[in-house]
Amino acid sequence: MTVARTPLLSVKDLTKHFGGKHSLLGKPRPIIPAVDAFSLDIHAGETVGLVGESGCGKTTAGRTILRLLEPTSGSVHFRSRTYAEARGPERADVVAADSNELRLLRRDMQIIFQDPYSALNPRLTLASNVGEPLRANKMGNRGERRERVAELLERVGLAPEMMDRYPHEFSGGQRQRAVIARALTLDPSFVVADEAVSALDVSIQAQVLNILLDLQASRNLAFLFIAHDLAVVKYVSHRVAVMYLGRVVELSPTDELFADPRHPYTEALMSAVPPPHRRKRPPRITLAGDVPNPAAPPSGCHFRTRCRYAKDRCVSESPALREIRPGHLAACHYAEKLTLRPASVR
Ligand code: SF4
Repeated sequence: MTVARTPLLSVKDLTKHFGGKHSLLGKPRPIIPAVDAFSLDIHAGETVGLVGESGCGKTTAGRTILRLLEPTSGSVHFRSRTYAEARGPERADVVAADSNELRLLRRDMQIIFQDPYSALNPRLTLASNVGEPLRANKMGNRGERRERVAELLERVGLAPEMMDRYPHEFSGGQRQRAVIARALTLDPSFVVADEAVSALDVSIQAQVLNILLDLQASRNLAFLFIAHDLAVVKYVSHRVAVMYLGRVVELSPTDELFADPRHPYTEALMSAVPPPHRRKRPPRITLAGDVPNPAAPPSGCHFRTRCRYAKDRCVSESPALREIRPGHLAACHYAEKLTLRPASVR
């Protein structure tokens, strides 16, 4: 697949803080930087995987990019087809968009939520659930909307005859296909897939992933694919960004990241992935201690309290995310020098 050179989406120094100001009792509340200076370009037809431990800020980053959460600072620029039709060809400034502009942008930027059970309204039929974005945007009459829903259900491997059934009549895999169909109703060009297959059995996961890959190939869709399962991320992603404590600590083409990680956190994450074909797994790298409190992160490198390679410099100096090879960025003072173990899944 050819990946266009001008980014579809450009995120620059995006920050999302929670907390702050005062509690009801007048006590100052700590500021929690859930996403800190997050920068990423995504091209049309590209999938960028976003990985990291639970609570590292992956989901918050995805939702802040779509402005489902209001950013604290930073910029998001997006080349939106529907916005361009209404307002002109410039890339839309998602952060500055007013409610009308945001409605135009949302047609082109969609999200697939993690839980297929809560993502569908149990009181509505499949046709109403999947056709909801068309109704909300006043697109087509009832017959045209049903036609569009039938076409989408077929694309995700569900029989159009199912459209008058209710969500409780479907399995988890079928519901997740319906959630994917709904995300595609308005023909978006960018989708945040937030743990889109985590709740599914392994065999169903593979089917749903293949549907996503087919849709990407036929519609040149771009994905931000948020997941904690590195094997799944490797299967679908062109590039992978690794997050720790709200920051991207490594970003690389997928094959290169798995063959030659350049950040000690990535090395530790990858050591937890079981090797294929029952090969003997080298001992897992156990990270020392717990994830630090994001409201009071360690000085210098935020990863230093758990890093087995930390040195004095890491206490006082925060490492910048820098390009160590073309297209491969890492936030570690010693990224070029450390001998790190590659993943066993390659
Ligand atoms: Fe470890 Fe230091 Fe690199 Fe941080 S900068 S990852 S503490 S070696």
